[in-house]
Amino acid sequence: MSFKPRTESDEMRILRSLNARTDLSAVEKQHYLYLVKGYEGEVVFDEMAHTAGVDSKFYKLDDLQLECNNTSFQIDSLFITQQTIIPCEIKNYEGNYYYEKGNFHYCLNKKMISNPLHQLNRGETLLRQFLQQNGFHIPVEGYLNFVHPAFFLYQSPFNDKIIYPSQHPRFFKELGTRPSKLNDQHRKMADFLVMSHKPVSPYGKLPPYTYEQLRKGIICKCCQSFLIVIKGKTIICSACGAEETVNAAVMRSVEELKLLFPGIKITANTVIEWCNIKEYKRKIRRILLTNYKRIGRGKYTYYTV
Ligand SMILES: [Zn+2]
Repeated sequence: MSFKPRTESDEMRILRSLNARTDLSAVEKQHYLYLVKGYEGEVVFDEMAHTAGVDSKFYKLDDLQLECNNTSFQIDSLFITQQTIIPCEIKNYEGNYYYEKGNFHYCLNKKMISNPLHQLNRGETLLRQFLQQNGFHIPVEGYLNFVHPAFFLYQSPFNDKIIYPSQHPRFFKELGTRPSKLNDQHRKMADFLVMSHKPVSPYGKLPPYTYEQLRKGIICKCCQSFLIVIKGKTIICSACGAEETVNAAVMRSVEELKLLFPGIKITANTVIEWCNIKEYKRKIRRILLTNYKRIGRGKYTYYTV
């Protein structure tokens, strides 16, 4: 178990919702799929680390967003071991790439991509400075982890900072053999890093959207389809077969609405309209009453956490 576990970013969650409820442009959709792919790669990395037991042996902190000298930087995963701190840059690239004159290119179109080694080095340098400025002196030893099994890099450089998909079992095994006597100072560092985490607000970088423009209705928790049917206390997705209680689905939809429109007043009528299940008016009121705090009375009633 991670000391600071990974969660889906708000940006990705909002884009997932917008992808279901509006028609994203090709560029917006591509960006959304890029975020999903990256996240899936990180989850694969987490599973491998967990299987190898290194997430319980050391402090593992996922998805850190830090700031040093007014420059913000992100670390996908980081291990605090007894003697070193190990930031990992995780890439879920798929397919064939080649390395030429210090740069990475995608084989299909020969397009140069932003160099992930530069990204790793930048993160390492900033993390080192950040730790030193705050009184933590520990060697920083970063890695670039390619996790997709179908990733291949032609003319790959001889660089032991790069961990290819097939090298991961060995990478985690070696990590697992490192000294792991963690003391108060390590714990202090882990706490300090978690405290310094500054999530970036997604709202500035999203495509514009309005409440009116969004398709209403409960979407499936797995495939985001609107093809759901309600049977008793359960909703069932006709597209993928996923099941969820009506209670959980309504709560999830309320959270989605709050994420899309921070500060929105949650009233029973809003939720009924948002979920588009008018025949469940009484049930929705009951769900809101049970799970949220009621403020006001009569037609002025709204709900808050
Ligand atoms: Zn579904």
